[in-house]
Amino acid sequence: VKRVYAFGKDAEGNNVTEGNKDMKYILGGKGANLAEMAVIGLPVPPGFTISCQTCMEYANADNTWPEGALDTIQEYRLDLERRIGKKIGDAEDPLLVSVRSGAPMSMPGMMDTVLNLGLNDQSINGLIKHTENPRFSWDSYRRFIQMFSNVVMGLDGDLFENAITAKKLSRGVKSDTELTAEDLQELVAEFKQIFSENVSAEGYPNLVVDGTVQFPQDPDVQLKLAIEAVFGSWNNPRATLYRKQNKIADDLGTAVNVQAMVFGNKGETSATGVAFTRNPANGEKEFYGDYLVNAQGEDVVAGIRNTSPIAELKHVDGLQEAGRELEGVFTILENHYRDMCDIEFTIEQGKLWMLQTRVGKRTAAAALHIAISMVEDGLITKEEAVMRVDPEQLDQLLHPQFDKDAEYDVLAKGLNASPGAAVGEAVFSAVDAVKAAEEGRKCVLVRWETTPDDLAGMIAAEGILTSHGGKTSHAAVIARGMGAPCVCGVEALKIDAEKKEAAVTGTDIVIHEGDMISLDGTTGIVVLGAVDLVMPELSGDLDTILEWADEFRTLGVRANADNPEDAQLSRDFGAQGIGLDRTEHMFLGERKQIIQTFILNEDEAIREKAVNDLFEAQTGDFYGMFKAMDGLPVIVRLLDPPLHEFLESPRALDVEIAKMEATGADAAEIAAKRKLMEQIDAMSEANPMLGLRGCRLGIVYPILPQMQVRAIATAMAKLKKEGFDPKPEIMIPLVSTVKELEVMRGYAEKAIAEIAEEEGVELEIPIGTMIELPRAAVTADEIATKADFFSFGTNDLTQTTFGFSRDDVEAEFIPQYLSQKILPYNPFATVDPGVAKLVKMGVELGHEGNPNIVCGVCGEHGGDPDSVKTFHKIGLDYVSCSPYRVPLARLAAAQAAL
Ligand code: ADP
Ligand code: MG
Ligand code: MG
Repeated sequence: VKRVYAFGKDAEGNNVTEGNKDMKYILGGKGANLAEMAVIGLPVPPGFTISCQTCMEYANADNTWPEGALDTIQEYRLDLERRIGKKIGDAEDPLLVSVRSGAPMSMPGMMDTVLNLGLNDQSINGLIKHTENPRFSWDSYRRFIQMFSNVVMGLDGDLFENAITAKKLSRGVKSDTELTAEDLQELVAEFKQIFSENVSAEGYPNLVVDGTVQFPQDPDVQLKLAIEAVFGSWNNPRATLYRKQNKIADDLGTAVNVQAMVFGNKGETSATGVAFTRNPANGEKEFYGDYLVNAQGEDVVAGIRNTSPIAELKHVDGLQEAGRELEGVFTILENHYRDMCDIEFTIEQGKLWMLQTRVGKRTAAAALHIAISMVEDGLITKEEAVMRVDPEQLDQLLHPQFDKDAEYDVLAKGLNASPGAAVGEAVFSAVDAVKAAEEGRKCVLVRWETTPDDLAGMIAAEGILTSHGGKTSHAAVIARGMGAPCVCGVEALKIDAEKKEAAVTGTDIVIHEGDMISLDGTTGIVVLGAVDLVMPELSGDLDTILEWADEFRTLGVRANADNPEDAQLSRDFGAQGIGLDRTEHMFLGERKQIIQTFILNEDEAIREKAVNDLFEAQTGDFYGMFKAMDGLPVIVRLLDPPLHEFLESPRALDVEIAKMEATGADAAEIAAKRKLMEQIDAMSEANPMLGLRGCRLGIVYPILPQMQVRAIATAMAKLKKEGFDPKPEIMIPLVSTVKELEVMRGYAEKAIAEIAEEEGVELEIPIGTMIELPRAAVTADEIATKADFFSFGTNDLTQTTFGFSRDDVEAEFIPQYLSQKILPYNPFATVDPGVAKLVKMGVELGHEGNPNIVCGVCGEHGGDPDSVKTFHKIGLDYVSCSPYRVPLARLAAAQAAL
């Protein structure tokens, strides 16, 4: 197997690159794109990439090297030295390299990179001699020791930061750049001392010289340890969490890129920066990013110094030419990748070097805007535009915003780093954010700047607020990726994380832990107190992409809704009907009393009165629904849940009785309560979800479905007379045998005929059933003879196929099944292949029994993009999902068809 791949030029200036951008799974994203940039002639410092497969072999063999791998790496290293004409560790003119991680999927900041490798007490002299710049050289050496100690040896970064701070204090200077070459040389000595004192001799016997641990001087040792550390970082806790969060497989591994160093810290004509070819927050066509003069690598993202906007670069003395060249590179990369790219670059004494590129992460709004403008520019097709938007990401656009009519005082302003608004209690650590979320409290995470260690807290929080860092800082990048609102760089905030408070400069306001704050990541505004939020509407770009999606999709999209407002909303979002109108949701509130009366009374007259009251109420409900969905189908499901869901719990009644007794309440009242309790108790079932519910309820109490059908038919008749075009359909739940459907269908047809007769209008109402029990799926051919349509209730079907109680398992064993990989994902969120097989069987058999049968899905899965793709393949006619997921489903359905 080939394990190592060269990129960049040889000594004669010939391109010797062995990889390209399509080799992400071997070279990682960074390695593949470095190779691609080298191939298309962009200036890339030469290097080589060790494959992801080597990482996995190393990890799976308990961190031991596969045979021959180290020899190959050595070969490529010698080759690199020949190509550049310098040697690592050389005392005259040393080659320095970076050792960079790079996985197939971008995992920003999750894994490790070491810069300036190859410096030691000999090669530092060579560097000084060759650069004639002692300050730069000592600064590079101290950075190397610091990074190596932190990243490779796992020492606490603060040990070094504290030493720097102490040095600045003793020299009476404020910033790192004011330290002299001598200061830095002293720091190098101190750093080496810190290394010796903090690295364990047992852990690293190879590093022991004369009885004490020494900073490794041998470049071979440095390189091997650094590569091993990068490999090891694949399985560090934050990388593991990030993969879980982003559904990235654990067995991909990371590649390691060993690359010649270029220096952005060689003075005023050197710089380093990160940039996007377009604005990743809103998609506008503009260069976006930050740079720092006389700085190296991470300085920009670390938020240590304040950066300048990239657009200024071409106006800065000594950097103009590189700045203009960079803008040319932006265009080359966009045309080549036919997408927005993000970029890391360094300018070394006026010369531009490209250090990284990839198709950049962006907000949903930017994704839409960029896709559309690239179609307009003829760069991509409409199909490609539709494929490029991640349906899950659309959720961001359906995120809350500050209510336009809300009144509030702006407390502070920062950078609008990730759109959407958030309201929550201020918390000052990731741990507190996680705790708040676990206790069901909404929170906003307030940090100086986030680090990868904050990830769990960032996930838990509603929004993220930082006082430092630019739009490409850690907080901004991660928040945009997660779709979480983020305001960063709010300089007015003076955060004291220890005390859990933040003072606001220029005011006497101090935000304490637990205070409600609001932020708007679209505008950068921060407010003390809770601002009212509203949901946004479908607009401009989203509408355009969804219209294109509608041209390509064949799968219909309906919504699950049970009131006229939701029905209207789903219509606005493009639903082509209601796939599930759950009538039991109409039995809550005041109506609960009526149904209780029905259930608990033996007196026929009282029962009849209750049913009549329900009829009146339901007729009004249906009238509103059918009117809102005029001209589109509305599938009404007859009463489904177990009756006791409408009753008080016997346990609560028991408590109430005890209280009444204690307070000496009227004996007759107590007796009545007790009777009620016993009655409800007697009706309770051990397994209510498998008990008296669905069509069984209708067969035991025919009067209920009859009433509902009469209400449906009456509402329809009324609307027809008013000139509307109502299209109700009646759905019988929880059928397992065709006989059940036959009986229920009989009741329904009779009721419809009676109302048609009474009202004098023709009423065509299709009658169908849910397929949500395995027996129904496997006898779908028989059931279809009595059904005009099927709707697969994949929630119950998942529950009954697995035998998992969906109300209990999620908290109990499913998380464990997921972490042990017994299940690849939660089958209640994304449809399981076994359940999908039953659906497929149901569709096929259904068509045998009734060639014209219409088949849809109405479980939660209807709004899950992966499941939508499965349903498209099975050949369903439509999916039905909650109103806010309708846009996602439209897009996912188009992607499935393309
Ligand atoms: P990450 O994946 O976290 O972005 P990188 O491998 O890109 O890590 O490296 C971290 C920083 O170091 C980046 O800013 C990058 O530009 C810089 N860097 C990496 N390799 C080199 C190099 N050969 N010369 C100069 N800077 C480098
Ligand atoms: Mg990078
Ligand atoms: Mg069900």
